[in-house]
Order: sequence, then structure tokens, then C-alpha cells
Amino acid sequence: MFIEFLQQSVQFYKGVGPRRTKALKEAGVENVRDLLSYYPRRYLDRSNVSTIRDIKPGSDPVTLVGKVTSVRTIPARRRSRFELTVSDESGASLSCVWFQGASWIGKLFEAGQRVAFHGSPVVYKNGLSMSHPDFDHLDADGPSLDTGRIIALYPGSADLSKAGLSSRVLRRIIYSIFQNDSDSFGEILPDWIRTENGLMDGRVALRAIHFPRDQAELDRARHRLKFEELFFVQMMLWKLRVDSTREKGIRFSSQSEMSPDSYFRRFIDEVLPFSLTGAQKTVIGEICTDAESGNRMNRLLQGDVGSGKTVVAVAAMLHTLDNGHQSAFMAPTEILSEQHFKNLQAYFEPLGVGVRLLKGGMKKSERDQILTSLASGDLSVVVGTHAVIQKDVKFHRLGMCIVDEQHRFGVLQRATLFDKGAAPHVLLMTATPIPRSLALTAYGDLDVSVMKERPPGRFPVKTMKLNEDRREDAYEKVREHLARGQQCYVVYPLVEESEKLDLKDAENGFAEIKAAFPEYRVDLVHGRMKSEEKDAAMAAFTDGHTHILVSTTVIEVGLDVPNASVMLIEHAERFGLSQLHQLRGRIGRGPYKSVCILLAAFKRSNVARQRMQIMTETEDGFKISEMDLKLRGAGDFFGTRQSGLPDMKIADIVQDTEILFQARDAANSLMEKDPKLEQPGHQDLAEYYRAFYGSSKMDLSRVG
Ligand code: ADP
Ligand code: MG
Repeated sequence: MFIEFLQQSVQFYKGVGPRRTKALKEAGVENVRDLLSYYPRRYLDRSNVSTIRDIKPGSDPVTLVGKVTSVRTIPARRRSRFELTVSDESGASLSCVWFQGASWIGKLFEAGQRVAFHGSPVVYKNGLSMSHPDFDHLDADGPSLDTGRIIALYPGSADLSKAGLSSRVLRRIIYSIFQNDSDSFGEILPDWIRTENGLMDGRVALRAIHFPRDQAELDRARHRLKFEELFFVQMMLWKLRVDSTREKGIRFSSQSEMSPDSYFRRFIDEVLPFSLTGAQKTVIGEICTDAESGNRMNRLLQGDVGSGKTVVAVAAMLHTLDNGHQSAFMAPTEILSEQHFKNLQAYFEPLGVGVRLLKGGMKKSERDQILTSLASGDLSVVVGTHAVIQKDVKFHRLGMCIVDEQHRFGVLQRATLFDKGAAPHVLLMTATPIPRSLALTAYGDLDVSVMKERPPGRFPVKTMKLNEDRREDAYEKVREHLARGQQCYVVYPLVEESEKLDLKDAENGFAEIKAAFPEYRVDLVHGRMKSEEKDAAMAAFTDGHTHILVSTTVIEVGLDVPNASVMLIEHAERFGLSQLHQLRGRIGRGPYKSVCILLAAFKRSNVARQRMQIMTETEDGFKISEMDLKLRGAGDFFGTRQSGLPDMKIADIVQDTEILFQARDAANSLMEKDPKLEQPGHQDLAEYYRAFYGSSKMDLSRVG
């Protein structure tokens, strides 16, 4: 009954007409569950009101209640602002100001209204002021719902406000649900999970998150709801993990018992010009163990840039070949797959192993030939973008799928990616290390290997940041390296959605660099070029024919040109931290001292300054990713769209790691015990999961 109640549309609720239904839908609220989990953005503590006279600037946030005495919108060329003055019984007054949303917020106020404000007071133009305070309009004779207690404030928007859905109105609507339908509420978490984790009853928590009696109750409610949210995600991940890893896989024979003539052994003993690092050995061991287990491998290799992941992939593919199966090696871009193709060719040729590149714009005859040899099994290894595993590509015996730099795929995408009958082993590789808390969610469906160690004999990359007016100094540095016969990358940012504009940046920069370095060969590569042009430009740089390669961020991942020892990053203030780290990973790959120069505009945000500072301080990708997560917050880390998991409405995997670990343990032990949720006491949970989480992939009935 609880589930059906939660699924009811909000439109028939008291106070919600067609107009509000539409506005709510825009805000992602369609049914009762959405509405109940339209959690307050903030609270305004009306049980603790200060008088304006007693307020000291710079103090902690305060709540005050007063009358609006004047309002005005100050138009400005770029963005107008809205100001109002409020005074209270103490006779003192204070101003409130909005720079953002001034136009719609301005419409909410007029002189004479009684309003509660909550914010941090500062001194501004000789008076007290709060910018962007939280607020709540009071009725002259407001019922107890709105006064003398902690009041929920909901995320607002121009649309909601146009439909009259202020926090006050939302409170009314939600309150009426609790009043009229209190019998419909239920508890979905089994008792034992609640007891073990000290969780508040779900019914109480839902009421308390909207109408807390006091701070302590609110804290417990938040804890319970965060747990619940993380718990369901962990259930999903458990399903994904189990479905994929308990799935029968192709059983390879033991690598250690292979003859010295095996491809694998000959590669390591005869072809590789260097010896494996300890980390490479460990990971290759993990991969072999997985592939020999009889279950399907589903492993993520997190290896910092330059740690030598390609060699690991090659070893995995050769072990596959020794077991009579084919491999597919995928990269996110064509440029990268070209590069991999060249590397693989160099490794495979001495062994007599065939490898082909499948790419867009190939001659049909050539493509057909590759497809035929894959289908017949004549071809052992194919490289390409993930077009390689599209429908029309049939393999004779596909045994191994390797995906390089896979952070662009989300959890669900991964799950469907390899749904090819043969159940090949899957190895995902990424140079974007992620903190554990995030690994447990975004990659919670995978086993994880880590490579921190880099091959010996590398110099650390020196990183310096320069202001734009020191461009000549930067060029001087570049010249030093070029004079020694080394090569240089110049990188321009690619701001999403406006590739055109950036292209112009890169093109102008290209002209400028050419003029500044007339004695050297300079080339340009960007995402909008035809693939043959890109190929040609990349090949010329890889061969050392071009000295300076000007590019947009297409070179970000994976490129490997050991002779490149200097990188100039233009507009460095516009790049994200992990992106800067990726880019920098393109140099320092050979036996030379390398330099990365971050060229930045004077005007840069605080965060941009911190990012560049961090870059000059460390080269450790794992450290950088922790910092990145802190600077950006979890929500933004992958983009929710990319993670493929449900949106987090209340939990924050960066802040709430403790709860995350508890929820994970609980979900795991529940699912181990009762994978189909059939035991008594688990029915409501099963029904809830099915209604709101279990898409076909995580369907409970599908237990591997
Ligand atoms: P990434 O992990 O960033 O993909 P690559 O696989 O491109 O790194 O390897 C980076 C460079 O290090 C390549 O030039 C590769 O030939 C070299 N390399 C890999 N493993 C070793 C090793 N064990 N010893 C020396 N050099 C190595
Ligand atoms: Mg790589």
C-alpha cells in the first residue's frame, strides 16, 4: 500500500492544480515519492530569532523576523540586483541583497510584508547587510506550522515561484499529505537493518525531514534518509557485480603452466625491451587469475598516467590468444585508437600476431575484410573506438574486451556494453584515479586493481605557472627544449558545447606560435578535423617531423610520444584538475627532464588558483583526485549522467563516507543472505526496490 501511495501522481493533491503540476514536473517532482523526497535545501531556525540591534557583523548565520520597509531593483548592464530593507521591533534595520535571480526574487517582496530571514550579516555601506539570505514569508496570523520552530526551506526557482510554489506553500502541501494520508506511510527497511545501524523509523524520518521538532530529530532523520538512499544504490551495485562476476566465463588455462613458446611468454621474455614493473606484474597476475577462475572477469585497472597500462593490456590479450580466443581493444577517440594500434603492431609483429584497426570512414572493402576475418577467427586482435563491439561486428570467439580510458562510460552503459553472448572477460583501464568512496559507488560493480608505480628512470615533471604577460619567458623555455631536439605540445581548452569558439582560440594560437617559432615546424590538430588529417598530423608529430603540436584537448588521454618534453597549457585557469593532470601526463614519458607550463590569465577564480597550485605541488594522481573531489564536490565529479546511477538527493558521497560504508555493508549482507528478497520481513523492501530501482539489469529474479 505504501508503494502505491508513493506512486500516486501529485496532481490530485490539495493545493496542486494543473499549473503547479507542470512546475513541479519541471523540478523533477511527479509522484508522492518525489514530493516527499523533495528535501528541504535548508532550514530556518525560528525557534531562535535574533533582534537586528543585537546582530554583530561577521557572526555566524542568524535568523531575524521583521517588516520589509523598502524594496528596489537596481538595474545594471550585465546583471541587475535586488535590495530590500527590513526592520524589527528593536527599531534597527538591515538590508538584504540578491545578485542572482534578482528579477524573480524581486517579485516576491513588497513593503509591509512580515518575513523571516536567515543569513550571515556583514557590514556594507555603513550598515548591516546579508546577501542571498534564506527567507520565509509570514502571514500576519500564521498558524503554528510556520513559527517558533525549525522551518524547512525548499529549493526555489523562477518556475516554481511563478506557479506560487514558495517554501510556505510547499510546506502546506506536504503537511496535508502527512495529515490526510498518515495511514499510507510504511517502513521499507527490515527491522534488523534498522537496529544494526541505529536508524530512525522511516515514517518518522520523512515527517521530521520536513517538519523537524528540533535539531536532534532533524539530524537523525537526515542520517536515516541518507542511509536509505545509499543503501539502494549499493543494492543495485551488488546486483550488477554479482550478475557480472558470478556469470560463467571462459576459463583460460593457467598462464604459469604455459610453455615458453606461448605468445605471452615470448612477449615478456623476448619482445619487451624493458622488464615489467612490480605493479605491472601484480596486475597481470590478477587478470590471469580472474580469467582462469571460470567466472567472467570484470575488472577496473586504475593506473596513473604513464604507469604503463598498455603493456598490461597486451599481456592480457596474448594470454587470451594462447587460449585460442580473440581480443577487442577499445579507446574513446579515433586518435587514441590509432595510437594504440601503432603500439600494438610494434609488439605483435615480432610474434606474428595479426592486429587490425577498425575505424570510421574506411573503405567498405577494407572494412568487410576485417569483419570477415573476425568472424572466421583469422584475426586475433581488433582495435578501435567502441564501434568495435557494435552489432554488425561478429567475432568467432571473443574472449577479452579491453576498454582504455573508460571513465566516459557509466555503470549501466558498462552493464549493457558487453552483453555479447560469449561473455568475454572485461578489463577497463583508466588513468583517472578515484577516491575509495567514489570507487565504491561509481565503480561499485567492478573489481579494482591499482598501479601507482611508474617505470624506472623517469624524471618528475616540473610544473610552473606563469601569468600571461610572461608569455615570452614561456616561449624561452620551449625554445630550450626544442634546441635539444625535443618536442612540444601547446594545448588550448575545449569548453563544452562551444567547440567553434575554442577552435578559433586554437587557430589563432597556432598562427601566433608559428610566428614565434619560425625555425620550427608547427602543426595543428583538433577534434573537428577529418580523421585522415588528424592521423597525418599525429603521425608527423609521433615521427618527430613536427616540433610543436598545437591542439585542443583531443590529446588529453593516452597519447604517448616520449620525445615530447615540454607542454604549454594556454588558459590553464579554465581546465579542471584531473584534466590538467591528464594533459601533463603526455610529457615526462621519455628519458628527459620535462616541463609543464601553465599559462593563465590574471583574472582567475579562487578555485582555479588552487587547482594550479596543487598541480605545481604534486604529480600523484591519487592525491590530485582527492583534492579534485574536495574542490568540486561529489555531484560534479563524473556528472550524474555519466555515473548512470540514480541522482543523490540527500547523501553526498564525499561528506557521508561513514554512512556510505555502513550502507554498503548492510546491502551486501542482505543480498548475500536473501538475494531474491523472499524471506519474511523483506517483502516491502523487495516491492520498493522493484518499483523504484530494479530496471531489467538489476532485476531481483536475475541472480547470476
Ligand atoms: P599509460 O598507463 O599512461 O597508458 P603507457 O602504457 O602509454 O602508459 O606507457 C607509458 C610509457 O612507458 C610508454 O612509452 C611505455 O613504453 C613505457 N613503459 C611501460 N612499461 C614500462 C616498463 N616496465 N619499463 C619501462 N618503460 C615502460
Ligand atoms: Mg594509456
